[in-house]
Amino acid sequence: MALTAPAVVAYSPSPKLNFRYEEVRIPRPVKENELLIKMVATGICHTDIYVGSLPHGTMGLSYPCILGHEGAGYVEEVGAGVTAAKVGDPVILSYGYCGSCELCSTGRPSYCVDFIPINILGRDGDVFESTDGATQITGKFFGQSSFSSLSIANETSIVNVKGLVKDSEELKLLSPFGCGLQTGAGAVINSGEARPNDVIVVTGLGGVGLGAIMAANVVGCKSIIAVDKIQSRLDLAQSLGATHVLNTSGLAEGDFQSAITTLVDNTRISLAIETTGVPWISMAAMTCLGKRGKFIQIGVPIDQNFNITFPMADLFGNQKILEGNIMGSSRSREFIPKMIGWYRDGKFPVEKLVKFYDAKDVANALHGMEDGSVIKPVLVW
Ligand SMILES: [Zn+2]
Ligand SMILES: [Zn+2]
Repeated sequence: MALTAPAVVAYSPSPKLNFRYEEVRIPRPVKENELLIKMVATGICHTDIYVGSLPHGTMGLSYPCILGHEGAGYVEEVGAGVTAAKVGDPVILSYGYCGSCELCSTGRPSYCVDFIPINILGRDGDVFESTDGATQITGKFFGQSSFSSLSIANETSIVNVKGLVKDSEELKLLSPFGCGLQTGAGAVINSGEARPNDVIVVTGLGGVGLGAIMAANVVGCKSIIAVDKIQSRLDLAQSLGATHVLNTSGLAEGDFQSAITTLVDNTRISLAIETTGVPWISMAAMTCLGKRGKFIQIGVPIDQNFNITFPMADLFGNQKILEGNIMGSSRSREFIPKMIGWYRDGKFPVEKLVKFYDAKDVANALHGMEDGSVIKPVLVW
């Protein structure tokens, strides 16, 4: 018999985000290399909002669909060939990858050549349907579609956390490790290779930016500069280890660079993590770097048509490194256990970022994210 489950279904935006909480049906059993997951919680990430706001047909997007890519739950069933987890194991869900392309097979699965088809496009049309069976609902967003209390996930999206997580309450809290926090922390640790003598600037203090701040604090970076336009977020960043803060509200674009360098008495800034996707902030962050400084763009551009220009003389003369980055270059099955270890030691206090909502209250959760009052809303199933 087909299973039914409450879910948050994304309908074609009209023109704004059109998420509805309703029952759906899972009409088929798991196939090879798939698992059925009973979710306990799902974090909301900006990518859910970004993708759910795109018109039907963009990049092959098909509504209705179920988004969600920061799921956490327990394995209910496993398909043939699955080795990552057994029935009953607690899991955190992350991005998927092919496992066989040149980048996957050389240890860089977040740069899988099929990342977009596997995680954003070409998703499975047969995972969910309406309860009357009349409408197909697309699943497997990021290999998981975890905005459903029951979902079929691909094995590559599974991070088994058996023995690492105490109970279901803790599992709920750690659900955002699958994307946002992993991305920010990974950018600092894996890509930035931050060291204690680094002076790091983080622009934008959502879940990704605050993940970067916490990771920089874990490393013990000499100076950690947090930049945002919302004072409460700057205060939170300070409580998480930021040594300097810059509020950009009311700051003229042209004054940004000097405001940052002044904060640290013109010490060489060695690493910049950019999470806003705003072109002028990206450019200013590139410019404020000192010699051999590394810039990492981790925020999705707010407009895909934006260009940035950067002086070649600065790039070459100061031997700067400019990098586009996804998922913090993290290999989730290695990096998420590492993050859980920091959390266990009190160095990665995710509880300061998370606000839980009953999944029925998804509208309130989205509202809190939009007005900036909530860093990381987590839906509880
Ligand atoms: Zn691949
Ligand atoms: Zn995300």
